[in-house]
Amino acid sequence: MRLIAAHGAPVFVIGTPLSHTLSPLIHNVAFETAALPHRYFALQVQPDELSRFVDIIRQLDSPGANLTLPHKEKICSIISDRDPEVEQLGAANTIYNHAGKLRLANTDIYGFSRLLEPWLHKVRDSGVLVLGAGGAARACLVALQQLNCQQIFLWNRTPEKALKLAKELGGSSLQTLGDSALQSGQFAAAVVVNATSVGLQEPEPEIFPQKLIQPGMVGIDLIYNRSTKFLQNFQQCGAENSDGLAMLVYQAARSWQLWTGQKPPIKAMFKAINDRVKES
Ligand code: NAP
Repeated sequence: MRLIAAHGAPVFVIGTPLSHTLSPLIHNVAFETAALPHRYFALQVQPDELSRFVDIIRQLDSPGANLTLPHKEKICSIISDRDPEVEQLGAANTIYNHAGKLRLANTDIYGFSRLLEPWLHKVRDSGVLVLGAGGAARACLVALQQLNCQQIFLWNRTPEKALKLAKELGGSSLQTLGDSALQSGQFAAAVVVNATSVGLQEPEPEIFPQKLIQPGMVGIDLIYNRSTKFLQNFQQCGAENSDGLAMLVYQAARSWQLWTGQKPPIKAMFKAINDRVKES
């Protein structure tokens, strides 16, 4: 049996739930702009269907797929060929075809590094505080280590998780902070990254004390589809700030490049997503 795709093999994002994903918009605009015949679809796949899904993309000769919750870790037990970032994060967000074999990648580290570009001097010289110890925080920490950030502080609501993550990642530049050290500003960081999901909660708890924000600081919230209180506090204090939209677009662009071997049409990808976010 061999499935034949009518127009260019399809590319998928799989997960559950998937109702809010912006990935089809970004990738379909990129395929159209580059005049490639592929189309990108969101597909609800349950954990017990993951192996079957991998068989199907092999049969379709698909360029690959994106993976979101709950498949990012489990896929590592199904596809053994993988990029070094997947080993570092223990999770993959991309399947692509590498010399005829399916291989795993994680493009979140790249996406976050690109988001940081306007502030690289501050990141390297003035220290960074990361709030959170989930999958997104882990990608941020690995990116910061790769960028040779001299001092990284890590705080998490559940301190045991921050300690475990710091131990796993290692390195003398990474130090965990307790609640009282955070609240009293006992850290030297000009860049604060909110890698928690608090901005999705109503009402949003104040995770980083506004009294600690100085005009020369930078606040980054990885959430991309709303103006969080965290970011508003930085704005009110005259400090630079960014949501996570650039990370979303750049991680998508990197996946797209792995699938097509072409330079991604990044401007068109940003325009599509900016237009959509403005509409909502
Ligand atoms: P996750 O693995 O579920 O981790 C959630 C984190 O948020 C944990 O550190 C958790 O702390 C913390 N948290 C949740 N509620 C909190 C509260 N009320 N107070 C303090 N801390 C709280 O999620 P994730 O995958 O890392 O994602 C985190 C955020 O990043 C999400 O909002 C996601 O949308 C965003 N994200 C954006 C991009 C992008 O491309 N821009 C990519 C990935 C993720 P505990 O450990 O104490 O529970």
